[in-house]
Amino acid sequence: MAKRGHEPVRTCVACQQEGLKGTLVRVVRTPAGTAAVDPGGHAVGRGAYLHRDASCVETARKRHPPELWAELTPS
Ligand SMILES: [Zn+2]
Repeated sequence: MAKRGHEPVRTCVACQQEGLKGTLVRVVRTPAGTAAVDPGGHAVGRGAYLHRDASCVETARKRHPPELWAELTPS
């Protein structure tokens, strides 16, 4: 596991709490209007960070069109 302080911190779009980048999943909006999970964190596009957590995914789903999160499943 990465040591705390080494890793960039991002804010989860669902719960608005900060987390280490490695604990969040990056989702990128594609030109087609859907979203794709970006495991590497390097895809071009407007990205959002979300906890790999069922409750945060659920919150995001309520705020955004379902198809946006179709590929996002809690692990
Ligand atoms: Zn969260």
